[in-house]
Amino acid sequence: MENYKKIIEDIYFEIKTIDDTGEIANYIPELANVSDHNFGIHITTIDNESFGIGDFDKKFSIQSVSKVFALTLAYKFEDAKLWERVGIEPSGNPFNSLLQLETDYGKPRNPFINSGAIVICDVLLSHLKNPKEDFLNFCKELSNNSSLNYNEKVAQSEKKSGYRNSALCNFIKSFGNIKNDVDEVLDFYFHICSLEMSCKELSKISLFLADDNFTSHKGNKILTMSQAKRVNAILLTCGFYDESGEFAFRVGLPGKSGVGGGIVAVHPDKYCIAVWSPKLNKKGNSYKGMLFLETFTTKTASSIF
Ligand code: GLU
Repeated sequence: MENYKKIIEDIYFEIKTIDDTGEIANYIPELANVSDHNFGIHITTIDNESFGIGDFDKKFSIQSVSKVFALTLAYKFEDAKLWERVGIEPSGNPFNSLLQLETDYGKPRNPFINSGAIVICDVLLSHLKNPKEDFLNFCKELSNNSSLNYNEKVAQSEKKSGYRNSALCNFIKSFGNIKNDVDEVLDFYFHICSLEMSCKELSKISLFLADDNFTSHKGNKILTMSQAKRVNAILLTCGFYDESGEFAFRVGLPGKSGVGGGIVAVHPDKYCIAVWSPKLNKKGNSYKGMLFLETFTTKTASSIF
């Protein structure tokens, strides 16, 4: 940890003051109320050593990062059958694109673009009695953290402006790949996106993807080794919208970003690291977050490649 700590500090101060060419997401009005000066980093190793700097303890809207936990829960329920509903290929298109759904007959390319996550939410609705509460409880178990919660204001703000997601959900339903009521699926989707965490919490909750021996505090194994391998593989190839290749090229770790400006990256058998800086590049990924992680894996020689 000492080695990581010094490197994280150096890069943090190096990047903190650079000119950030990104822009804060404002298509969900409530997200635009966050100060763009926030910048935090937190690393947690599989030995449970940890270190954070900057705004690492402030909660933010994790948005699409929650798609990782939704996929994990749906995968536990459905195992390989899940891939009949959603694919595992990068889309090469923006996160909210409708384009490929028509030629793919309503089967989203992967679980990390909006269409894919909406189908995952539909799968979860078919399994969970109280979907919002049960999903939140699953995240609490994953992280051993009872303070996790949705941000109702963010969920409602996205609901009011969620024309794109509404179009995606209705379009997929027309192909028969949404089984539940469209409004219920969307309400659940907007809530899971509104989940809030700090970098510290995000790096901790993701440990089940880095540590083969991970069991929750309730003694439950979350994913089998093979399932964790597959989730990490999809994170590497699809975790950053149509910039997934760029992230693998520059950072070299499986990971997931969200339009709240958070990124979590996983080094299997070593650590999880979360970065938050709200200004996004043109592809919707945190500008400073990507730069930080690129420098970090380069200086620590700790990409998976
Ligand atoms: N709730 C956001 C949306 O559906 C999530 C997008 C993201 O973080 O990539 O647009």
